Amino acid sequence: AAAKTPAARIPAAKTSAAPAGPVIRRALDDDMLEQLEELLIASDMGVDTALRVTANLAEGRYGRKLSVTDIKRALADEIARIMEPVARPMPIYTRTPQVVLVVGVNGSGKTTTIGKLASQFRAAGKSVIIAAGDTFRAAAVEQLQVWGERAGVPVLTAPEGSDPASLAFDAMTKAEAEGADLLLIDTAGRLQNRADLMEELAKIVRVIRKKDPTAPHNTLLVLDATTGQNALSQVEIFRKLADVSGLVMTKLDGTAKGGVLVALADKFGLPIHAIGVGEQIDDLAPFDPQEFARALTG
Ligand code: GDP
Repeated sequence: AAAKTPAARIPAAKTSAAPAGPVIRRALDDDMLEQLEELLIASDMGVDTALRVTANLAEGRYGRKLSVTDIKRALADEIARIMEPVARPMPIYTRTPQVVLVVGVNGSGKTTTIGKLASQFRAAGKSVIIAAGDTFRAAAVEQLQVWGERAGVPVLTAPEGSDPASLAFDAMTKAEAEGADLLLIDTAGRLQNRADLMEELAKIVRVIRKKDPTAPHNTLLVLDATTGQNALSQVEIFRKLADVSGLVMTKLDGTAKGGVLVALADKFGLPIHAIGVGEQIDDLAPFDPQEFARALTG
């Protein structure tokens, strides 16, 4: 029937869509699947998830002759299917102040992400307060003050080495008194002494709950894409230290394509609220599963 349509009668040479050369098709066989697995593993996806993705790809397609474009598209579709359920922006509640605890190892991009989030919420017309809860790291406090200035958001600090929980309590008091919409609380990321960190985070939560039993409303774990598979163990560790409700992955503007996000989605199913795509204040983007899947499959 297709041959009878007018378009089909147009000589191939005269159509602009004529391919430059013959399309090479390859059978989706074991050899091809193995190559694809290796590609996915190299993107930090991990062996288990890479195997699952290629198994899904093979279903209904095994042995068929496909072009490279078809294979890439099908692979991207399989990845997007895993990622779609976790691509969710941070929920905003009507209850104020909404308390957002931000956790993650030092260097993951916590401070930067807090600055970017503060700026986005400000732009959306929300009033925001930041609490510099990593009181043991003077550099982190200074860094947050710079971000606060850029975002036009007040930053509450406490003397170096003082109790972060007491700062969190003061911040809650101020946020309530001023009717702030959001309170973003930075926390320490020293994994060297995990018992201390656990106690510190637990105490912050206890103290916040004296003011609002429903807080913190979000606990964001910030992960660095360049750490690859380490992100998996960081999620495992931080889920023991705090009630992680969502993820932000930073540094996706570099060479790291963040394949580990697929493994994370597969294993934990935690929502991915945003991704960091640079060092500037506007470099925080919503997580787009299709775009991510396309970038990963090349
Ligand atoms: P913290 O120790 O977790 O608070 O981490 P910082 O926020 O201080 O970030 C550590 C470094 O990573 C800084 O040099 C940031 O500029 C950089 N950084 C953070 N997020 C991103 C990102 O999305 N892309 C890039 N390229 N760099 C980032």
